[in-house]
Amino acid sequence: MRIDILTIFPDFFAGPLDHGVLRRASMNGTVGIHPIDLRTFTHDRHRTVDDRPFGGGEGMLLKPEPIFDAIESLAVTPKETRDLARETVILLSPQGRPFDQTVAHELVSLDRIVLICGRYEGVDERVNTLLCDRELSIGDYVLSGGELAAAVIIDTVVRLLPGVLGNPDSNRFESFGAPDSAADAETLDGLPRSTHGSGGLLDYPQYTRPADFRGASVPEVLTDGNHDLIRQWRRRAMLEKTLKNRPDLLVTAHLTKADRKILEELRSEHLAENSDD
Ligand code: SAM
Repeated sequence: MRIDILTIFPDFFAGPLDHGVLRRASMNGTVGIHPIDLRTFTHDRHRTVDDRPFGGGEGMLLKPEPIFDAIESLAVTPKETRDLARETVILLSPQGRPFDQTVAHELVSLDRIVLICGRYEGVDERVNTLLCDRELSIGDYVLSGGELAAAVIIDTVVRLLPGVLGNPDSNRFESFGAPDSAADAETLDGLPRSTHGSGGLLDYPQYTRPADFRGASVPEVLTDGNHDLIRQWRRRAMLEKTLKNRPDLLVTAHLTKADRKILEELRSEHLAENSDD
């Protein structure tokens, strides 16, 4: 996969993308990540990339010309003839559609992704309409630039590329695992096949040594070696955490009859706890 990032701060990416699995994926050629300096595509002494908005208002906008010139220099296929199964151009914007694990799974199958990072008050809208296939937002808040958003998207997508994580199952059975995949629907004694988080739920809490730390012990079931009980405990913990922190995910999660029964129990435990207060 090739990823080009159009930005006025190309040095920003030297840090975030140069660690751990991302670094390894770049080093072994699984992905090529290329920050492109938009100022290279300016033609004036001050290397101007911004201008005032028509109609007045706060701040400045990134001008269209350097962005169009950069895209053309990269030989990106024009929007009308672009094969969206292979190549995409994305504008990072708080006005975009939410980026999530489902979108990451869509992007991972592409050969080429171009990310355009806005700055100031944003980007001339013709960049969006004439060059981009989609606008993506990484959350309901406003960053000062698209670079952090680009880094978030790159990290999320690259770790899904085949061979990037040591264990290929790691990204199938984790928080936000696709709810409808056949693998997630496989069950063992009425429990999901994996002991890991999947099926659209949040992952379960995990512990490592020491078993006792500052008076807090690891749940006993995890140290007893009974794998059926461990699976049951983990499933319940996933449901509990999702119910507590992200109840919205339960609407689309892959839930068995047993899961629904556990959720009922958890809800009535929760009600009982609150009525004790
Ligand atoms: N005036 C814009 C608005 O209110 O929608 C905000 C512009 S923001 C200060 C500057 C740039 O940061 C945007 O053009 C975009 O590239 C990036 N950005 C800010 N928040 C973002 C988010 N939540 N997701 C993705 N990109 C974001």
